[in-house]
Amino acid sequence: MKMLSFKGGITPPERKELSNKMPIEAVFPSNNTVSIPVTQGGAPNKPLVKVGDIVVRGQKIAESDAFISAPVHASVSGKIKKIENRLTATNTDDLCIIIEADGSDKTDFMLKMDPFTVSKKDAIQRIKDAGIVGMGGAAFPTHVKLSIPAGKKIDFVLVNAAECEPYLTIDERNLQENTDAVIDGLSIAMHLVDAEAGSVVLEENKAYLIPTIEDAIKKAGFTEKMGIVLVKTKYPQGSEKNIISAATGREIPAKGLPADAGCVVQNVGTLIAISEAFREGKPLIDRPLTISGEAVKQSKNLIVPVGTVIGDLIPEVIELNDNVTKILSGGPMMGFSVINANFPVAKNTSGVLFMRKEELCLEEETPCINCGKCVEVCSCRLYPVLIANSLKAGDMKAAVKYGLMDCVDCGTCQYACPANIKLVQRIRTGKTAFRAELAANQAKKTIKEGK
Ligand code: SF4
Ligand code: SF4
Repeated sequence: MKMLSFKGGITPPERKELSNKMPIEAVFPSNNTVSIPVTQGGAPNKPLVKVGDIVVRGQKIAESDAFISAPVHASVSGKIKKIENRLTATNTDDLCIIIEADGSDKTDFMLKMDPFTVSKKDAIQRIKDAGIVGMGGAAFPTHVKLSIPAGKKIDFVLVNAAECEPYLTIDERNLQENTDAVIDGLSIAMHLVDAEAGSVVLEENKAYLIPTIEDAIKKAGFTEKMGIVLVKTKYPQGSEKNIISAATGREIPAKGLPADAGCVVQNVGTLIAISEAFREGKPLIDRPLTISGEAVKQSKNLIVPVGTVIGDLIPEVIELNDNVTKILSGGPMMGFSVINANFPVAKNTSGVLFMRKEELCLEEETPCINCGKCVEVCSCRLYPVLIANSLKAGDMKAAVKYGLMDCVDCGTCQYACPANIKLVQRIRTGKTAFRAELAANQAKKTIKEGK
């Protein structure tokens, strides 16, 4: 058993003990209504339904013609009540389809499919038809990740079981409760990309899961091809670049993709969704997630229909103390701060945190002391302080040179900064400004060429 790591990173308090002993509980919103975002990863979808339509669980309700897109399905059977902009988990207003459940358990799943006997093209299409996206946070369509460009050779499929964000424990619970489905999903992914080996990459704090995973690998008959790699507990272990570096010693080249290092990385939940899409014909319509934070009376792991509004689980399922200072969709490092709990769970919502004041860093910024700590911890080997200073000085060219667009928003530099400088917020704002600048330049060029 190897024990590996990547360069840089931090070790914030884990806080996983609040929820990691809580089994995954299936719950339903108290008002029997879901609010399903029309687009959840990839190019924008268009609704396929209208107000008043009757839909059943698993029916496709929104899609796009673009290759890099993922359709969305009804997560409950019932009637379309509204199609309108609503608050979503990224704290923006986006188009949502509101369905009132009728209490029936009718489904419209696809036919079951054997991933090992159909053509790889049909199997990849199945993953697209099931609307599967990366469930670890990025929501990138999974069929695109598994469509390996000609000339690239994949050696390893890595199961991203690091779950390095503090508080979140849903992958940990899924590895314990749905181990066979994870291993099945891994075998399917390995088959689709012609990989010889598959590894479950676990952080040291979850080493107790090794016997369970080993048993599942043995039961499935994959001991020759699959194994476990134990890595140090460190944030941000879960980024693709870091997990590949830690588990294989390979580096993704600059501007490259995991496939350029011979790897494909898949999240635990995504592999379960892949298994279900073939074995049950089920699209991605249910989302397991962690509810935690010290402002919650009892932290939990839940599974809910996609589109369940968090506020509709309060107080029946989520009981709060009266000291909620901040609500986060996702983990404390990379999650989005949301204005209230009335947002729906999306396919990539791995957790919702209700934090009290004492859990947050609310200290004022002080001047930079040039300690270099932010550079030391950045696993992308960027210069956060120089990026921030360049942006402050209005020098976009210098900010890009120091790595503005290579930043993965992990928040590590900000966590490590003794002056509490809001480095990530500045970098995110800088990235938005740079993209707007590029778009404006492109528009000018198009107009000029058109003349
Ligand atoms: S947020 Fe960006 S700059 Fe800061 S540590 Fe992460 S990758 Fe580096
Ligand atoms: S960690 Fe903070 S104080 Fe230190 S160099 Fe970076 S920005 Fe400045």
